[in-house]
Amino acid sequence: MSNENFRSPLVMKFGGTSVQDAAAFRQVADIVGASVGRRPVVVVSAMSGVTDALLRATAAAWRTLDSNPMELLDPHFDRHVEAAESLLTGSRQGEFLRSLSDAREEIVHLLRTIRAYRGVLAPLQDEIVSFGERLSSRLLAEFLVERGTPGRPVDARRCIVTDEAFTRATPLLRETFDRTRSELEPVIADGVVPVLGGFIGATTDGATTTLGRGGSDYSGTLVGAALGAHEVQIWTDVSGIYSADPRLVANVRRIERISYAEATDLALYGAKVLHPKTIEPVEQLGIPVSIRNTFSPANGHSIVSRDSAVANGEIGAVTHRTGVSVVRFTPETALSTSRLMGEAAEVFEENGVPIEHIAASRAGVSVTVEEGDSLDFALRRLERSGQVELTRHVAVICLVGNFGDGGSEVCRTVTETLAGFDARSLHPHPSPNARLFLVAESVVGDAVRALHRHCVESR
Ligand code: ADP
Ligand code: ASP
Ligand code: MG
Repeated sequence: MSNENFRSPLVMKFGGTSVQDAAAFRQVADIVGASVGRRPVVVVSAMSGVTDALLRATAAAWRTLDSNPMELLDPHFDRHVEAAESLLTGSRQGEFLRSLSDAREEIVHLLRTIRAYRGVLAPLQDEIVSFGERLSSRLLAEFLVERGTPGRPVDARRCIVTDEAFTRATPLLRETFDRTRSELEPVIADGVVPVLGGFIGATTDGATTTLGRGGSDYSGTLVGAALGAHEVQIWTDVSGIYSADPRLVANVRRIERISYAEATDLALYGAKVLHPKTIEPVEQLGIPVSIRNTFSPANGHSIVSRDSAVANGEIGAVTHRTGVSVVRFTPETALSTSRLMGEAAEVFEENGVPIEHIAASRAGVSVTVEEGDSLDFALRRLERSGQVELTRHVAVICLVGNFGDGGSEVCRTVTETLAGFDARSLHPHPSPNARLFLVAESVVGDAVRALHRHCVESR
């Protein structure tokens, strides 16, 4: 190992189930404690279920006048109290419990503000939601100290600098890298483990933002890239990236080695184990990302790096994403294909509906988009100049694999398997590692299982 590698830190990101209760916190502290020689930096999610509850409470405050949104949150405050009473002693416990009750007071105040002013919701929502990660990171740092590992809570909002797109903010890379280095390097140099919440950041003016659901993985690799980490470890409740979601398919296989590009396609098209942007910060730097099981650390893991182990003509994984709509637009007056595509793209863009996939010919244009409230506005605008056909409740199935020279055999198997599901292939393909198909949401589970059986298990 070179001297440079020896000095560079190890980023360890722990997800929500990894800190779901006191027993899980103990597992995490053991794992971190065993890696102190590698200069760990810890990034942690909110305790499982807490982000959902904070979002539900925010929505309740916004929508109804008679409910008490704190009823949705108090069971989760109780979970924090229980964990703290089990993990911390003496003044450390007292201080954490005080900060917990301060957090509760602040949330009560913020929810009242939402009710009273009913103005712009997103910045207040991000402020409220950020408490999940602020509390879990504080509790974990205190617990590390309690059990003899020097740890220090660091407010992630001092490190991750973002634009103002509240609820789905984009990090400003240069500022984030500079701030992360200046906040964390002195802590690491002191031999102390910094512990920061994932998912949250702040604008240059200091307003709290969030990176989108599941965004703690992305925080982990942002911090890893900023510090030139020698590895980013994503600790979760499964022992790596599998050939399909293990909750959906029984005989899944772990993918031991997978390339950055393959992992990105997998994450983009529904593999919840990685946030879609996780790979972005580390790919150019060649920092390996491993996916490991907090509850079974010795059970093996997956490594994402420049190398792939998916052989020519093989399919590595079958993933899917629901909540997609397909819009087909036929203009009243004939347009060239490029103008048609440009004009349709502009309508979706102006209405804040990101296009996922577009295909056009002189006869019309076909677009897949995520379902959402803004879609209706885009459709009304299109209806003024042509005929619009909308198909809702569609799922995208993604096959991640090596479709090189030996790919024709596997493509035949895929076509035969999907014939019974009324599937449509999406052209052009978005990447050399992926093939996309559309099916009705109602059959997607069966289609994924059939593809897995014929294309992965039969290998
Ligand atoms: P965390 O809270 O640790 O971030 P997530 O729930 O976000 O964990 O991600 C882990 C989950 O991802 C697993 O429990 C699993 O059900 C799901 N998952 C979906 N697709 C895959 C896949 N291809 N490989 C592994 N896990 C997957
Ligand atoms: N707590 C956030 C969420 O549930 C971020 C994360 O867990 O990655 O979406
Ligand atoms: Mg996650």
